[in-house]
Formats: sequence, structure tokens, C-alpha cells
Amino acid sequence: MDHVVEALNHVRARLADALAQSGRKPEQVCLVAVSKYQPPAAIRAAYQAGQRDFGENYVQELTQKSADLADLADLRWHMIGHVQRNKARSVTPLAHLIHTVDSTELAAELDKRAHQPLHVLVEVNVGAEAQKSGCLPNALSELLDAIAGAKRLVLRGLMCVPPHTLEASGARPYFDRLRELRELHGGAERLPELSMGMTADLEHAVAAGATIVRIGTAIFGERPKAGG
Ligand SMILES: *Cc1c(COP(=O)(O)O)cnc(C)c1O
Repeated sequence: MDHVVEALNHVRARLADALAQSGRKPEQVCLVAVSKYQPPAAIRAAYQAGQRDFGENYVQELTQKSADLADLADLRWHMIGHVQRNKARSVTPLAHLIHTVDSTELAAELDKRAHQPLHVLVEVNVGAEAQKSGCLPNALSELLDAIAGAKRLVLRGLMCVPPHTLEASGARPYFDRLRELRELHGGAERLPELSMGMTADLEHAVAAGATIVRIGTAIFGERPKAGG
């Protein structure tokens, strides 16, 4: 697992460079290591190198891994995949932050199932892509108000996965759009976190103001295929 540590250090250097380029401070961005489909041993290796925030896409996989890695008490799990309403009960006790609330129905279900304050982001479908999950920009106001009015949910910000573009720089307008949406809906005071940026476009996301980046491939290598 030495390659994981080496790759993690490389990503840390990329992030530090990107922050320096934008005149931002290292503590202004949280690096989430996206570990979907990766074995617990790879997560352990990154943890031993100081990584604490990990992102998972599937509730079942998160449940299994959090059990396998229960001895790593200060590890923080981020739920970054679409959450089905019938999985709300399983995910609430495990997640440090849920990045993907995208409907008032899911927000209500998470609020009902949470037994303690639950930090959430709203996923915005910034490209208005038909096949993608995420709240459409014109429905954002209502969803943010619903979360703000919920008993246990703590509104922390916005998240996006921009449309795929051939050049990494193609993501930049969508990152700027997410930041504009934050300004339109209460600014950094109400929505401090912007979760955006993956392996290919990390630098563009940091330049656009990301406070959380979600990096998988550059840390763990190519993912084994689902179920394999
Ligand atoms: C898989 C995934 C990532 C990580 O993508 P990489 O390109 O491997 O860095 C980030 N965010 C979400 C929502 C993902 O599903």
C-alpha cells in the first residue's frame, strides 16, 4: 500500500500548489479521499499517513467499511453518492457529512431518522442534466428553507458534480455557477462549504473557491469495477 501514501502526498502537493496560486490558506480546503470500491486496507494506509476524511458513494458499502474500520475512531465518513430514502436510517448514524441532499422528501426522511445533529450539503444539478441527481437551481430556495427549518439537519453548503467535459477547464463555469448560487442564497455565512473538484479538475475547483475537494483516482488509482 506504499503507492497509496505516495499518491496521497502527491495530491497534497497539488492541493497546496492550487491554494497558493489562488492566494488561499491550506486550512481553507478539506481533502476528502474517495474510497468507493477500494479495499479497507487502502483506506487504512491513507489513514496511517494522516488522512481522516473519506468519501463513499453507496450506503451498503459505507456500512460494511465503517464496521471493518471501526477501530479508527476519528475517521470521518462523507456520503457523496445519491441516497435513497429507504437508506436514510442506515446512513444517518455513520456520516459526518452528507453531500447529496437533493429533495425535500429526502431531507425530511433524514431529519426523521437522525438522532443527533446531522450536517448536510445540497447537491445541485448545475448542468441541469436529465440523467443526473441533484436539485435544479430553480428548486434550491425551497430545499434550503426546508433544511433550515428541520429539527436535526444542519445546513452547511452546496455540492456539485459538473457535466463531463473533455478539458478539465470545462468544469470551471459550473464551479463558478455553484459559487454564484451560494451568493444568491445567503452567501458564505449561510452556506460555508462548497464541495466541488475531483481528480481531473481539482485546480479549477480550488480557483473557483472550493472548500471541500473529493479525490479518488489520484489517491487510490483506477477503481476496480463495481462488484469486482
Ligand atoms: C467517484 C467520485 C469522486 C472521485 O472521482 P475521481 O475522479 O476518482 O477523483 C468525487 N465525487 C463523486 C460524487 C464521485 O462519485
